[in-house]
Amino acid sequence: MPGGRGAAAHEAARRRTFAVISHPDAGKSTLTEALALHAHAITRAGAVHGKAGRRPVASDWTEMEKERGISVTAAVLQFTHRGCVLNLLDTPGHADFSEDTYRVLAAVDCAVMLIDAAKGLEEQTRKLFDVCRHRGIPVITFVNKWDRPGREALQLLDEIEREFRLRPTPVVWPVGDAGNLRGLIDVRTPGRMLRYARTPGGAHEASEEAVSAERAAAEEGPVWDQAVEELELLRAAGATHDQEAFLAGRSTPVFFGAAISNIGVRLLLEAVVDLAPPPGPRELAGGRIRPVDAPFAGLVFKVQANMDPAHRDRIAFIRVCSGVFERGMTLTRAATGRPFATKYAHSLFGQHRSTVDIAYPGDVVGLVNAHTLRVGDTLYTGQAAAFPPMPTLAPEHFAVARPVDITRTKQFRRGIAQLDEEGVIQVLVSELRGEQAPVLAAVGPMQFEVVTARMTGEFSAPIRLEPLPYHLALATDAAGAEALTRSPIRGEALTRVRDKARLALFRGRWQADSFRREFPDARLDHLVAAHD
Ligand code: GDP
Repeated sequence: MPGGRGAAAHEAARRRTFAVISHPDAGKSTLTEALALHAHAITRAGAVHGKAGRRPVASDWTEMEKERGISVTAAVLQFTHRGCVLNLLDTPGHADFSEDTYRVLAAVDCAVMLIDAAKGLEEQTRKLFDVCRHRGIPVITFVNKWDRPGREALQLLDEIEREFRLRPTPVVWPVGDAGNLRGLIDVRTPGRMLRYARTPGGAHEASEEAVSAERAAAEEGPVWDQAVEELELLRAAGATHDQEAFLAGRSTPVFFGAAISNIGVRLLLEAVVDLAPPPGPRELAGGRIRPVDAPFAGLVFKVQANMDPAHRDRIAFIRVCSGVFERGMTLTRAATGRPFATKYAHSLFGQHRSTVDIAYPGDVVGLVNAHTLRVGDTLYTGQAAAFPPMPTLAPEHFAVARPVDITRTKQFRRGIAQLDEEGVIQVLVSELRGEQAPVLAAVGPMQFEVVTARMTGEFSAPIRLEPLPYHLALATDAAGAEALTRSPIRGEALTRVRDKARLALFRGRWQADSFRREFPDARLDHLVAAHD
């Protein structure tokens, strides 16, 4: 029984849509694959992926990703566990792609924050956590690599509490310090220890044996006693899981393990099913609420062209927010009020695509040949709906792009426009520079590499980049832009193609302040920064 309000509500209740956020190298790919292994989405880790070791190549769509081993695009893995449908959205592993990450996080209901036991909270963890807090996304914490020497468990909790003002409430506690992992205690069933037999290369689920407290005490001695004592300390301090506080973003349930050996991964998977919230009502621009059982509404959180070099297509990833998506239905694009036909809808499992006929709140649908769709678009049926706009982050790196071969100007323009629409880079123009010399604006410099590679690879229009000496972009208006041309301060006003915003570019804060003193009436506002 596909359609109907009842179906949407029922199916939404058994969906969990989440992302893993972490600093590069904390083990996100390893954990992703381990989760899929436990959920039986794939039977043997490594089997579906070609790369050496266990690194999934599920999301390696471009050559550059393969070379660098980083994920630039967003892949979606869907698997089922205990009657729940889990949608795991991949986030880019590098800070330079923080705009992409923002967008992906707009499409999830929960995040798993992955921490390397030896490194604790790292720069990218902090930034991503800030985004979660900003968006009100509840966070489950997984401390990874407990099989290697690292920090003390209590010290890590302390760090989370102090730095994130987030109350850590362990649900799983390690027996043995990092590097000496003897087993795990599930604090909900405290009188026993779970002991793991490692499997070579983590290709299978780790076998798990429940050992009684008496036996654990006899066999592990002081290591067991220490774990029990720490748990008592935590209980006395009231560090116990509180679902309401977790959903409100005030506390985080904490898990420990070693993704590479599948240790602790099952418990994390259970937590996603048991603790992570199902899709709920969503706020629309203007403050109205769209319940999950309202007619279909979906958010375009990612647009990606040419994922498959054999088919020059363009896929828009849509998170179903309300109602039931049925392939073939005609939707309305909120931005224009125009109809959008959904003949080519796919579900995506890494590189594999299959046609999707139906999808429910929390699911992600890939619409192929979605040439008119943009990141941030809302598609709906029934009562009109538009989700709040996605933030465009303040760029900090700027370069003029020119075609290497001027006979390829048409391809050059098409490519730049395409990459702008996908949100790969921001494109700024000014009358002074002309259309042949757009200014590319990036949050992180690696975005330039993606543009350069894709312009050559996909559009056969190699580009030359000339870096500009600016590092600060502020919002201004026509009068401010005009004032800037009269000012002796070297700055420049350009218009961002994507949203027609006027940006004033400066070398740094000193120049901006000096311009402000000179023209106190000129509008000069801060843009949303990655860490706002
Ligand atoms: P990502 O960059 O966050 O996706 O991290 P990867 O999954 O590629 O892992 C980075 C490195 O850490 C790889 O060499 C993994 O084999 C290793 N790694 C991942 N999880 C664990 C773990 O639980 N224990 C240990 N010792 N190494 C791990």
